[in-house]
Amino acid sequence: MNNEETGRFRAALRRYAGAHGGACIRLKAVLFDMDGVMYNSMPYHTAAWHTVMERHGLHLSRGEAYLHEGRTGAATINIVYRRQNGKDAPQELIESIYAEKCGIFSSFPEPDAMPGAWELLQQLRAEGIVPVLVTGSGQKTMLKRILADYPGMFDSAHMVTAFDVKYGKPHPEPYLMGLVKAGGLQPNEAVVVENAPIGVEAGVAAGVFTIAVNTGPLEARVLREAGADYVLPSMPALCEAWKSLRQTMEEERCAR
Ligand code: CA
Repeated sequence: MNNEETGRFRAALRRYAGAHGGACIRLKAVLFDMDGVMYNSMPYHTAAWHTVMERHGLHLSRGEAYLHEGRTGAATINIVYRRQNGKDAPQELIESIYAEKCGIFSSFPEPDAMPGAWELLQQLRAEGIVPVLVTGSGQKTMLKRILADYPGMFDSAHMVTAFDVKYGKPHPEPYLMGLVKAGGLQPNEAVVVENAPIGVEAGVAAGVFTIAVNTGPLEARVLREAGADYVLPSMPALCEAWKSLRQTMEEERCAR
């Protein structure tokens, strides 16, 4: 990171502290979203959403699907159904559309692990920082794969999925549960890494410093407007910046 980038990050930490009673970050865990952060899976998810919705006469463009990223499948289906029909979608329809969506997604090639993610996780482990997965996904193939693709990094005790939550992102619940699974941490003892506006909203609502990695087609401005404390263009960029980010967090912590 150059001086200007470090300065922007330091300013973000101070803004966070100002908004949270002077709390500086004492990092013990990083709460990671899955799709678009751990996997380059969003192009397949948005294509699957578009296809299944059209099949049921519901209109959801790929571009709009990116804006709903992070919601539970049921919430996405209901928003689109409501918009067209003026009432909630029947539960059976929600379940069948979501099952079909998962089927279409599974028929695509397996998404690649996100470049930079493994290297970043290794840095965290070396520092004794706990990674926790916090995803709205109920895609069982992916939840199984992540254990194999990132060996030794996640286990079921350190994962929050669609099966654990009632509300889902943008509600703070998933990230609050992530703090519990990280060992009962305070919000200033973690950071969130997210790629989607709704995920960013959830992290911020949970009171956690939220770093957005802009791995999709959205403008960075959309992530800032969702409340992201700091925005980086990619996971490799976050991995490369990590040492500087940590050093700056420590400097700010010691200054208080
Ligand atoms: Ca995501």
